[in-house]
Amino acid sequence: MQHSGSLCINTLSYCIGILHFIMRLLLLLSAFVAGVFAVDTFVGQQVLRIRASNDDQIYQLQALESLTHLELDFWTEPAKVDIPVDVRVPFHSLQSVKSYLESQNIEYSIMIDDLQAVLDAEKQEMELNQIKERNSGTFNYATYHTLDNLYKGLDAIVLDFKSLVTKQQIGTSHEGRPVYVLKFSTGASRPAIWLDAGIHSREWVTQASALWIGYKLATDYGKDASITSLLNKFDVFLLVVTNPDGYVYSHSTNRMWRKTRAPNSGSSCVGVDPNRNWNAGFGGPGTSADPCSDSYHGPSPESAVEVKNIANFVRQHGKFKGFVSIHSYSQLLLFPYGYKCTNPAHFTELNTVGKAAATALSSLYGTQYKVGTICSTIYQASGGSIDWTYDIGIKYSFAFELRDTGRYGFILPATQILPTAQETYLGVKKILEHVRDNPY
Ligand SMILES: [Zn+2]
Repeated sequence: MQHSGSLCINTLSYCIGILHFIMRLLLLLSAFVAGVFAVDTFVGQQVLRIRASNDDQIYQLQALESLTHLELDFWTEPAKVDIPVDVRVPFHSLQSVKSYLESQNIEYSIMIDDLQAVLDAEKQEMELNQIKERNSGTFNYATYHTLDNLYKGLDAIVLDFKSLVTKQQIGTSHEGRPVYVLKFSTGASRPAIWLDAGIHSREWVTQASALWIGYKLATDYGKDASITSLLNKFDVFLLVVTNPDGYVYSHSTNRMWRKTRAPNSGSSCVGVDPNRNWNAGFGGPGTSADPCSDSYHGPSPESAVEVKNIANFVRQHGKFKGFVSIHSYSQLLLFPYGYKCTNPAHFTELNTVGKAAATALSSLYGTQYKVGTICSTIYQASGGSIDWTYDIGIKYSFAFELRDTGRYGFILPATQILPTAQETYLGVKKILEHVRDNPY
């Protein structure tokens, strides 16, 4: 009897045909399951890491990005030869993208071979950790949480550190969720420093790290002389979940969701990129006018209520001296500008502070960060938060891009949450200390 192995050797194309048929059947089945449970699946999808070797290849990758029917999700943008381009490729486009890259002699490797398998593992681990957490009765910082759980985490910090920390609602998201900041304060009418995370909802390690950083800040007050003196002079405002609607959607429906969840008039595509929606070079390079794009800038500056809430809060407060926004991934510490490629007036100082922060960060686990302006380090990107804060006079405006550099990208394993949070805290602390010691 001929077994299937030798059949495949004899008629390779026949076998590939069968495999394709089975794959399509599985995809159909998963689409059906997804339809029933309204969860987007990523079966058959891969993340490719592409390395352009010259500017022509960068242009070719940009051209590839403009082919919307391929439905490519660029995790990092094609902009500079020395920066790898990570792209999530749906199953239906995989063969044509690979063939195209090969025909153009553009080097690529497979960064994530089976995206759905990685997501399944992440979900399983999260559910397991939730059971453990329920049994232990204490908040577990080393796992990814739903929005409800993160909000319980905020309450737990407030409860544990009543004399230092309060919770304040700064507004409401498009879908009506409260947006909370934790305020760390030891006196009235202080100048302040802002920290936020999760403006891009799929960057899960940022919300998780920010919550731990809040806990650490509260714990260190009265114990760590530097944090104590900082909080005796400054208030710190911490926004753990900047984009709660997107965060909930990234749990319930599409793990890869980046934008807000407000509908766009005249389009069936949902959401604005809230970090292209600030009033700094609005609509310029590195943004898209297409509501279906992941970098859609929105109809006007601050059109996203999640952005408007923060901008109003910062304007009304009037005494912010530092503004730090936390993203992932790529291990970068960035400062203005992004909307233009000229250096800011305080380039030398910001660069020095940034390098000191990166050194402090790497002292714990050796994690290496690149430091520089947004434009020189990655690419021109307009409408970002730290450009706006810098332009309104908040000199110390920085953005972190946390771990990793592309092994897992947005799907960083939960085992890396605490190490990431701990090292990031050291970098953030360095910036806070500089703000404290250099009043202006
Ligand atoms: Zn981001």
